[in-house]
Amino acid sequence: MKKINICCMMCMLMLGIGGCSWKQNQDMAEHSESFFAMDTYMTFTAYGADAEPAVLAAQDKIRELEELWSVTDKNSDVYAVNHSSGQTVTVDWKTAELLSYALDMAEETNGALEPTIYPVLTAWGFTTGENRVPAETELAELLEKVGYDKVELNNDQIQMEPGGMIDLGAVGKGYAGDEAAQILRERGITAALLDIGGNIQAIGTKPDGSDWRVGLKDPFSGGVLGIIQVSDVAVVTSGNYERFFIGEDGKVYGHIIDPATGHPVENGIASVSVIASEGKLCDALSTALFVMGLENAQDYWRQHRNYEMILIMEDGDIYLTEGIRDSFSLNSEYRNMKINVID
Ligand code: AMP
Ligand code: MG
Repeated sequence: MKKINICCMMCMLMLGIGGCSWKQNQDMAEHSESFFAMDTYMTFTAYGADAEPAVLAAQDKIRELEELWSVTDKNSDVYAVNHSSGQTVTVDWKTAELLSYALDMAEETNGALEPTIYPVLTAWGFTTGENRVPAETELAELLEKVGYDKVELNNDQIQMEPGGMIDLGAVGKGYAGDEAAQILRERGITAALLDIGGNIQAIGTKPDGSDWRVGLKDPFSGGVLGIIQVSDVAVVTSGNYERFFIGEDGKVYGHIIDPATGHPVENGIASVSVIASEGKLCDALSTALFVMGLENAQDYWRQHRNYEMILIMEDGDIYLTEGIRDSFSLNSEYRNMKINVID
Protein backbone atom coordinates (compact mmCIF):
# COMPACT_ATOMS: atom_id res chain seq x y z
CA MET A 1 0.00 0.00 0.00
CA LYS A 2 1.39 3.34 -1.00
CA LYS A 3 1.83 5.55 1.99
CA ILE A 4 2.03 9.30 2.08
CA ASN A 5 2.32 10.93 5.44
CA ILE A 6 2.90 14.61 5.14
CA CYS A 7 3.41 16.55 8.30
CA CYS A 8 1.46 19.77 8.28
CA MET A 9 4.60 21.84 8.15
CA MET A 10 4.05 25.27 6.66
CA CYS A 11 0.31 24.96 6.28
CA MET A 12 0.13 28.67 6.80
CA LEU A 13 3.02 30.81 5.74
CA MET A 14 4.02 33.74 7.80
CA LEU A 15 4.47 36.72 5.61
CA GLY A 16 5.98 40.05 6.22
CA ILE A 17 8.31 39.32 9.09
CA GLY A 18 11.99 40.03 9.30
CA GLY A 19 14.50 41.49 7.01
CA CYS A 20 13.81 45.14 7.61
CA SER A 21 14.81 48.00 9.84
CA TRP A 22 12.96 46.84 12.96
CA LYS A 23 15.93 44.59 13.64
CA GLN A 24 18.21 47.57 14.00
CA ASN A 25 15.97 49.19 16.55
CA GLN A 26 16.82 47.60 19.91
CA ASP A 27 13.30 48.25 21.26
CA MET A 28 11.89 46.21 18.42
CA ALA A 29 14.63 43.60 18.13
CA GLU A 30 13.38 40.40 16.53
CA HIS A 31 13.99 36.98 17.95
CA SER A 32 12.91 33.80 16.22
CA GLU A 33 13.16 30.12 17.18
CA SER A 34 12.26 27.17 14.94
CA PHE A 35 11.86 23.74 16.45
CA PHE A 36 10.09 20.42 16.07
CA ALA A 37 7.47 19.62 18.70
CA MET A 38 4.06 17.96 18.91
CA ASP A 39 4.82 16.15 15.67
CA THR A 40 5.16 19.33 13.67
CA TYR A 41 7.46 22.28 12.92
CA MET A 42 7.00 25.44 14.88
CA THR A 43 8.49 28.92 14.49
CA PHE A 44 8.01 31.52 17.21
CA THR A 45 8.94 35.09 16.37
CA ALA A 46 8.67 37.98 18.82
CA TYR A 47 9.73 41.61 18.83
CA GLY A 48 11.07 43.81 21.61
CA ALA A 49 14.08 44.02 23.90
CA ASP A 50 12.94 40.94 25.87
CA ALA A 51 11.97 38.91 22.84
CA GLU A 52 14.64 36.23 23.22
CA PRO A 53 13.94 35.04 26.80
CA ALA A 54 10.21 35.32 26.15
CA VAL A 55 10.37 33.12 23.04
CA LEU A 56 12.55 30.58 24.85
CA ALA A 57 10.09 30.45 27.77
CA ALA A 58 7.19 29.93 25.34
CA GLN A 59 9.14 27.14 23.65
CA ASP A 60 9.75 25.49 27.05
CA LYS A 61 6.02 25.60 27.72
CA ILE A 62 5.32 23.77 24.45
CA ARG A 63 7.81 21.04 25.37
CA GLU A 64 6.22 20.71 28.81
CA LEU A 65 2.75 20.27 27.29
CA GLU A 66 4.05 17.89 24.64
CA GLU A 67 5.37 15.63 27.41
CA LEU A 68 1.90 15.52 28.93
CA TRP A 69 -0.13 14.98 25.76
CA SER A 70 1.97 12.77 23.50
CA VAL A 71 0.13 9.57 22.54
CA THR A 72 3.39 7.68 22.07
CA ASP A 73 5.58 8.88 24.98
CA LYS A 74 5.28 6.25 27.70
CA ASN A 75 5.60 8.91 30.40
CA SER A 76 2.75 11.10 29.14
CA ASP A 77 -0.62 11.56 30.80
CA VAL A 78 -2.41 10.52 27.63
CA TYR A 79 -0.35 7.32 27.38
CA ALA A 80 -1.20 6.51 31.03
CA VAL A 81 -4.92 7.02 30.37
CA ASN A 82 -4.77 4.93 27.17
CA HIS A 83 -3.12 2.04 28.96
CA SER A 84 -5.10 2.21 32.19
CA SER A 85 -7.33 -0.85 31.54
CA GLY A 86 -10.25 0.88 33.21
CA GLN A 87 -8.30 2.12 36.24
CA THR A 88 -8.51 5.73 37.42
CA VAL A 89 -5.49 7.85 36.43
CA THR A 90 -4.42 11.10 38.08
CA VAL A 91 -3.16 13.60 35.52
CA ASP A 92 -1.58 17.05 35.47
CA TRP A 93 -4.10 19.88 35.82
CA LYS A 94 -3.27 21.11 32.33
CA THR A 95 -4.26 17.73 30.91
CA ALA A 96 -7.47 17.74 32.91
CA GLU A 97 -8.22 21.27 31.68
CA LEU A 98 -7.62 20.36 28.03
CA LEU A 99 -9.64 17.16 28.25
CA SER A 100 -12.45 19.00 29.97
CA TYR A 101 -12.47 21.56 27.14
CA ALA A 102 -12.35 18.82 24.48
CA LEU A 103 -15.28 17.00 26.10
CA ASP A 104 -17.30 20.23 26.29
CA MET A 105 -16.61 20.94 22.62
CA ALA A 106 -17.48 17.35 21.72
CA GLU A 107 -20.88 17.84 23.32
CA GLU A 108 -21.27 21.29 21.78
CA THR A 109 -20.53 19.95 18.28
CA ASN A 110 -22.74 16.91 18.77
CA GLY A 111 -19.79 14.53 18.64
CA ALA A 112 -18.21 15.88 15.43
CA LEU A 113 -15.18 16.55 17.61
CA GLU A 114 -14.57 13.21 19.27
CA PRO A 115 -11.57 13.06 21.60
CA THR A 116 -11.99 9.29 22.05
CA ILE A 117 -11.62 8.46 18.33
CA TYR A 118 -8.10 7.08 18.86
CA PRO A 119 -8.86 3.32 18.55
CA VAL A 120 -10.43 3.95 15.13
CA LEU A 121 -7.58 6.21 14.05
CA THR A 122 -5.14 3.45 14.95
CA ALA A 123 -7.07 0.90 12.88
CA TRP A 124 -6.50 3.09 9.82
CA GLY A 125 -2.81 3.22 10.74
CA PHE A 126 -2.60 6.97 11.20
CA THR A 127 -0.84 6.53 14.51
CA THR A 128 1.50 3.73 13.50
CA GLY A 129 2.31 4.78 9.94
CA GLU A 130 1.18 1.37 8.70
CA ASN A 131 -1.89 2.53 6.85
CA ARG A 132 -4.64 0.09 5.92
CA VAL A 133 -8.35 0.06 5.19
CA PRO A 134 -10.06 -1.75 8.10
CA ALA A 135 -13.04 -4.06 7.60
CA GLU A 136 -16.49 -2.71 8.50
CA THR A 137 -16.85 -5.30 11.28
CA GLU A 138 -13.58 -4.16 12.83
CA LEU A 139 -14.68 -0.52 12.68
CA ALA A 140 -18.07 -1.34 14.20
CA GLU A 141 -16.36 -3.10 17.10
CA LEU A 142 -13.94 -0.25 17.67
CA LEU A 143 -16.70 2.38 17.49
CA GLU A 144 -18.24 0.75 20.54
CA LYS A 145 -15.23 1.99 22.52
CA VAL A 146 -15.65 5.52 21.16
CA GLY A 147 -17.77 8.21 22.80
CA TYR A 148 -16.96 11.37 24.74
CA ASP A 149 -19.75 10.42 27.16
CA LYS A 150 -17.75 7.34 28.17
CA VAL A 151 -14.98 9.43 29.77
CA GLU A 152 -15.23 10.07 33.52
CA LEU A 153 -13.37 13.25 34.44
CA ASN A 154 -13.40 14.34 38.07
CA ASN A 155 -11.01 17.20 38.78
CA ASP A 156 -7.63 15.68 37.84
CA GLN A 157 -8.83 12.07 37.77
CA ILE A 158 -9.70 10.31 34.53
CA GLN A 159 -11.37 6.96 34.13
CA MET A 160 -12.26 5.22 30.88
CA GLU A 161 -13.76 1.87 30.02
CA PRO A 162 -11.16 -0.80 29.20
CA GLY A 163 -10.12 -0.33 25.56
CA GLY A 164 -11.22 3.32 25.48
CA MET A 165 -8.54 5.80 24.45
CA ILE A 166 -8.18 9.57 24.11
CA ASP A 167 -6.39 11.63 21.47
CA LEU A 168 -6.08 15.35 22.11
CA GLY A 169 -4.44 15.96 18.73
CA ALA A 170 -7.37 17.96 17.40
CA VAL A 171 -7.27 20.57 20.19
CA GLY A 172 -3.85 20.31 21.84
CA LYS A 173 -1.90 22.53 19.47
CA GLY A 174 -4.49 25.30 19.68
CA TYR A 175 -4.49 25.11 23.44
CA ALA A 176 -0.68 25.05 23.52
CA GLY A 177 -0.65 28.15 21.31
CA ASP A 178 -2.84 29.98 23.82
CA GLU A 179 -0.48 28.99 26.63
CA ALA A 180 2.58 30.12 24.67
CA ALA A 181 0.88 33.42 23.77
CA GLN A 182 0.02 34.03 27.42
CA ILE A 183 3.67 33.61 28.41
CA LEU A 184 4.74 36.15 25.80
CA ARG A 185 2.07 38.62 26.90
CA GLU A 186 2.99 38.22 30.57
CA ARG A 187 6.53 39.12 29.60
CA GLY A 188 5.38 42.32 27.97
CA ILE A 189 5.58 41.22 24.34
CA THR A 190 3.12 43.17 22.21
CA ALA A 191 4.15 41.91 18.77
CA ALA A 192 4.70 38.23 18.02
CA LEU A 193 3.69 35.57 15.56
CA LEU A 194 3.63 31.91 16.53
CA ASP A 195 3.53 29.38 13.70
CA ILE A 196 2.47 26.08 15.22
CA GLY A 197 2.73 23.67 12.33
CA GLY A 198 0.79 26.03 10.11
CA ASN A 199 -1.63 27.16 12.78
CA ILE A 200 -1.01 30.80 13.55
CA GLN A 201 -1.29 32.64 16.83
CA ALA A 202 -0.83 36.37 16.36
CA ILE A 203 -0.04 38.58 19.32
CA GLY A 204 -0.82 42.23 18.79
CA THR A 205 0.10 43.70 15.44
CA LYS A 206 3.34 43.85 13.52
CA PRO A 207 5.82 46.17 15.26
CA ASP A 208 4.92 48.98 12.86
CA GLY A 209 1.28 48.75 13.93
CA SER A 210 -0.03 47.12 10.77
CA ASP A 211 -1.85 43.79 10.64
CA TRP A 212 -0.06 40.48 10.31
CA ARG A 213 -0.43 38.97 6.86
CA VAL A 214 -1.13 35.27 7.17
CA GLY A 215 -0.98 33.11 4.06
CA LEU A 216 -3.85 30.68 3.51
CA LYS A 217 -2.57 27.49 1.96
CA ASP A 218 -3.98 26.08 -1.26
CA PRO A 219 -5.05 22.59 -0.14
CA PHE A 220 -4.53 21.24 -3.67
CA SER A 221 -1.07 22.48 -4.63
CA GLY A 222 0.49 23.69 -1.41
CA GLY A 223 0.87 27.24 -2.77
CA VAL A 224 -0.45 30.35 -1.05
CA LEU A 225 -4.02 30.88 -2.15
CA GLY A 226 -4.71 34.13 -0.37
CA ILE A 227 -3.83 36.44 2.48
CA ILE A 228 -5.73 37.05 5.71
CA GLN A 229 -4.87 40.29 7.50
CA VAL A 230 -5.25 39.87 11.23
CA SER A 231 -4.12 41.06 14.66
CA ASP A 232 -4.39 39.41 18.06
CA VAL A 233 -6.11 36.25 16.84
CA ALA A 234 -5.45 32.62 16.08
CA VAL A 235 -5.91 31.17 12.59
CA VAL A 236 -6.18 27.38 12.60
CA THR A 237 -6.66 25.14 9.58
CA SER A 238 -7.79 21.52 9.29
CA GLY A 239 -7.51 19.57 6.08
CA ASN A 240 -7.20 15.97 5.05
CA TYR A 241 -4.29 16.94 2.78
CA GLU A 242 -2.18 17.43 5.92
CA ARG A 243 -1.97 13.69 6.56
CA PHE A 244 -3.36 11.00 4.30
CA PHE A 245 -2.59 7.79 2.47
CA ILE A 246 -3.65 6.35 -0.87
CA GLY A 247 -5.21 2.88 -0.61
CA GLU A 248 -4.74 -0.01 -3.01
CA ASP A 249 -8.07 1.08 -4.47
CA GLY A 250 -6.47 4.40 -5.42
CA LYS A 251 -8.64 6.34 -2.99
CA VAL A 252 -7.29 9.06 -0.74
CA TYR A 253 -7.88 8.42 2.96
CA GLY A 254 -7.42 11.44 5.24
CA HIS A 255 -6.63 11.66 8.94
CA ILE A 256 -9.85 13.34 10.08
CA ILE A 257 -12.37 10.66 10.96
CA ASP A 258 -16.14 10.98 10.92
CA PRO A 259 -17.06 9.48 14.31
CA ALA A 260 -20.50 8.55 12.95
CA THR A 261 -19.01 6.09 10.44
CA GLY A 262 -15.43 5.45 11.55
CA HIS A 263 -14.30 6.43 8.04
CA PRO A 264 -12.14 9.37 6.97
CA VAL A 265 -14.32 12.38 6.22
CA GLU A 266 -15.33 12.69 2.59
CA ASN A 267 -17.82 15.51 2.24
CA GLY A 268 -16.42 17.84 -0.39
CA ILE A 269 -14.49 20.07 2.02
CA ALA A 270 -10.77 20.41 1.30
CA SER A 271 -9.90 22.66 4.23
CA VAL A 272 -11.49 24.66 7.03
CA SER A 273 -9.75 27.65 8.62
CA VAL A 274 -11.14 29.17 11.79
CA ILE A 275 -10.24 32.63 13.04
CA ALA A 276 -10.95 33.68 16.64
CA SER A 277 -9.12 35.06 19.63
CA GLU A 278 -8.61 31.70 21.33
CA GLY A 279 -6.48 29.07 19.62
CA LYS A 280 -8.22 26.23 21.44
CA LEU A 281 -11.62 27.25 20.06
CA CYS A 282 -10.16 27.57 16.56
CA ASP A 283 -8.51 24.16 16.77
CA ALA A 284 -11.55 22.35 18.17
CA LEU A 285 -13.82 23.97 15.60
CA SER A 286 -11.59 23.55 12.56
CA THR A 287 -11.70 19.79 13.08
CA ALA A 288 -15.38 19.65 14.04
CA LEU A 289 -16.57 21.86 11.15
CA PHE A 290 -14.53 19.73 8.75
CA VAL A 291 -16.47 16.70 9.99
CA MET A 292 -19.83 18.50 9.87
CA GLY A 293 -19.69 19.39 6.18
CA LEU A 294 -20.64 22.63 4.44
CA GLU A 295 -24.33 22.83 5.35
CA ASN A 296 -23.98 21.94 9.02
CA ALA A 297 -20.88 24.11 9.37
CA GLN A 298 -22.88 27.10 8.12
CA ASP A 299 -25.73 26.33 10.50
CA TYR A 300 -23.30 25.97 13.39
CA TRP A 301 -21.74 29.35 12.61
CA ARG A 302 -25.15 31.03 12.39
CA GLN A 303 -25.98 29.67 15.84
CA HIS A 304 -22.71 30.84 17.42
CA ARG A 305 -21.11 33.70 15.44
CA ASN A 306 -18.16 33.90 17.86
CA TYR A 307 -15.59 33.07 15.18
CA GLU A 308 -14.94 33.54 11.49
CA MET A 309 -14.28 30.70 9.06
CA ILE A 310 -13.04 30.04 5.54
CA LEU A 311 -13.99 26.77 3.86
CA ILE A 312 -12.28 25.68 0.66
CA MET A 313 -14.24 23.04 -1.19
CA GLU A 314 -12.84 20.21 -3.32
CA ASP A 315 -14.52 21.79 -6.36
CA GLY A 316 -12.59 25.02 -5.79
CA ASP A 317 -15.39 27.13 -4.34
CA ILE A 318 -14.65 29.20 -1.26
CA TYR A 319 -17.15 29.92 1.51
CA LEU A 320 -16.31 32.51 4.13
CA THR A 321 -18.17 34.33 6.88
CA GLU A 322 -19.02 37.98 6.37
CA GLY A 323 -16.76 39.24 9.18
CA ILE A 324 -13.59 38.07 7.43
CA ARG A 325 -14.56 39.13 3.90
CA ASP A 326 -12.71 42.46 3.95
CA SER A 327 -9.61 40.99 5.60
CA PHE A 328 -9.19 38.24 3.03
CA SER A 329 -7.79 38.61 -0.47
CA LEU A 330 -7.03 36.01 -3.11
CA ASN A 331 -3.61 35.96 -4.72
CA SER A 332 -3.67 36.91 -8.39
CA GLU A 333 -3.43 33.37 -9.79
CA TYR A 334 -6.49 32.36 -7.76
CA ARG A 335 -8.68 35.32 -8.73
CA ASN A 336 -11.07 33.05 -10.67
CA MET A 337 -12.08 31.10 -7.56
CA LYS A 338 -15.65 31.79 -6.54
CA ILE A 339 -16.11 33.36 -3.10
CA ASN A 340 -19.46 32.79 -1.38
CA VAL A 341 -20.16 34.94 1.67
CA ILE A 342 -22.00 33.30 4.58
CA ASP A 343 -24.25 35.69 6.51
P1 AMP B 1 -6.68 18.81 13.34
O1 AMP B 1 -5.45 18.84 12.48
O2 AMP B 1 -6.68 19.80 14.46
O3 AMP B 1 -7.95 18.85 12.54
O4 AMP B 1 -6.68 17.42 14.11
C1 AMP B 1 -6.67 16.22 13.41
C2 AMP B 1 -6.19 15.12 14.34
O5 AMP B 1 -7.18 14.88 15.35
C3 AMP B 1 -6.02 13.79 13.64
O6 AMP B 1 -4.70 13.63 13.15
C4 AMP B 1 -6.36 12.79 14.72
O7 AMP B 1 -5.26 12.63 15.60
C5 AMP B 1 -7.45 13.49 15.48
N1 AMP B 1 -8.82 13.28 14.95
C6 AMP B 1 -9.21 12.74 13.77
N2 AMP B 1 -10.56 12.80 13.65
C7 AMP B 1 -11.02 13.40 14.78
C8 AMP B 1 -12.31 13.76 15.26
N3 AMP B 1 -13.42 13.55 14.56
N4 AMP B 1 -12.37 14.36 16.48
C9 AMP B 1 -11.27 14.60 17.21
N5 AMP B 1 -10.04 14.29 16.81
C10 AMP B 1 -9.90 13.71 15.61
MG1 MG C 1 -8.21 20.94 15.26
